[in-house]
Amino acid sequence: MNYILIGNGVAGTEAALAIRNADDQGDITILTQSAHHFYYRPRLIEYLAGKADLAAFTLYNEDHYREKRIGVRLNTRVTAIDPEQGQVTDAAGNLYPYDRLLVATGADCFVPPIPGADLPGVFTVRGVTDCDRVREHARQAENAVVIGGGLLGLEAAHSLVRLGIKVTVVEVMDRLLPRQLDAEGASLLQKMLERKGMAFRLGTTVEKISGTRSVTGLVLQGGETIPAGMVVISAGIRGRTTLAREAGLQVNKGIVVDDRLQTSVPGIFAAGDPIEHRDRLYGQWPAAREQGMKAGQIMSGKDTVYTGTAPAATLKVTGIDVYSAGEYDSRVGMVEVSREELVYKKYIIRDNKLAGAIVVGDPAVIPTVRKVFQGSLPIREIMKVPHTKGGDMDKWECSACGYVYDPEKGDDVGGVAPGTAFEDLPDDWVCPVCGVGKDQFNKV
Ligand SMILES: Cc1cc2nc3c(=O)[nH]c(=O)nc-3n(C[C@H](O)[C@H](O)[C@H](O)COP(=O)(O)OP(=O)(O)OC[C@H]3O[C@@H](n4cnc5c(N)ncnc54)[C@H](O)[C@@H]3O)c2cc1C
Repeated sequence: MNYILIGNGVAGTEAALAIRNADDQGDITILTQSAHHFYYRPRLIEYLAGKADLAAFTLYNEDHYREKRIGVRLNTRVTAIDPEQGQVTDAAGNLYPYDRLLVATGADCFVPPIPGADLPGVFTVRGVTDCDRVREHARQAENAVVIGGGLLGLEAAHSLVRLGIKVTVVEVMDRLLPRQLDAEGASLLQKMLERKGMAFRLGTTVEKISGTRSVTGLVLQGGETIPAGMVVISAGIRGRTTLAREAGLQVNKGIVVDDRLQTSVPGIFAAGDPIEHRDRLYGQWPAAREQGMKAGQIMSGKDTVYTGTAPAATLKVTGIDVYSAGEYDSRVGMVEVSREELVYKKYIIRDNKLAGAIVVGDPAVIPTVRKVFQGSLPIREIMKVPHTKGGDMDKWECSACGYVYDPEKGDDVGGVAPGTAFEDLPDDWVCPVCGVGKDQFNKV
């Protein structure tokens, strides 16, 4: 069996590994336009701030692919898929026949049609090269504007602040992270970020980006001008669907796949950021990882299905812990709010159940709140003072993604009970965030 996978992000790479697990004989080739081997994309934010080298979050080296007998062709852009002939073509005209094909082409940043968005000094952040360009330009910029106050926009803004630049974030909604926080939680987060040196303009839009040879500033709706030596646009993503569309695959908002992650053309599968599954688009690492893994299993003959990925509700926003779940914005039902300096907790309790919750700035309470929300702990547990005192056991940090294994908390995802020392974790335990093995962890 000849497997071709387009894209070496988490979806393509996990698919290749799953195929090799199930099919020892098949030929597996990853074609990617990237110049870099597979890396943990969320850590680009640290790379942007000059706080991590690419090698620190490149997940597999050449030896790993050799050992698994997976061919990876870097700098190879696929330009066409021909389902009738069962082959793909790259930009140099090479042909690659396949029996099973995976389209795992990821996404591009969305750039809204703002006049001046094409000026030098205006950037988006998706890959290593984008970060290199931003850092190069940042040397000569004193101030910057980030358009978009979602998770990625805030992270990018924080990275620029760490580079010594004065940053203003412009957001069309009247609060930060509107899909995760209510007005009060968002306002606390804003206050914490202001202390880190960021400024905000909320509930407004950008009329134009000004400048002649390079960007010099922005004009907001209503006429306010903000000086800016550079602009980073973080206004969401759009799946890379052109290849699929041109090959005649059904594309709606994303490449349409069924529960077997198969596209409208038999033998062609898709996974990761470009797909639309049960009317849903994800754009998140854990979803792309699960889809890639499932697609690989299915392509190599396993009788299994993908039914969706539960949305991640625990976030780290510029180092601040944020959790939100269920009807987080509701005021209906008993609302238990606790406000302290730089901590906000809100629980919506109805029929003796936790119908929704927000926690900002108190990481110790989050595992308990999550379990109560999921129904595995009784409601009274969230009213108890959380046990924050550290024990004698060490914490261990994942060198790939920065996740910290805390023995006090265990690992929900991997089914590890609180109180389990790192040394006692099973050998096949993997990082619940990025999926690397125990050997990639360092003692904190
Ligand atoms: C800065 C940043 C921070 C993020 N932080 C988080 C986070 O904290 N939590 C979270 O859940 N998610 C986060 N994400 C989103 C997450 O990284 C993505 O959801 C995930 O990487 C998607 O994986 P993928 O394999 O679908 O696509 P990608 O990782 O985008 O990989 C797609 C690959 O396909 C290749 N490709 C595309 N077109 C072609 C072609 N025609 N020919 C050959 N190759 C092609 C590309 O070069 C690329 O290598 C972040 C993203 C960014 C950019």
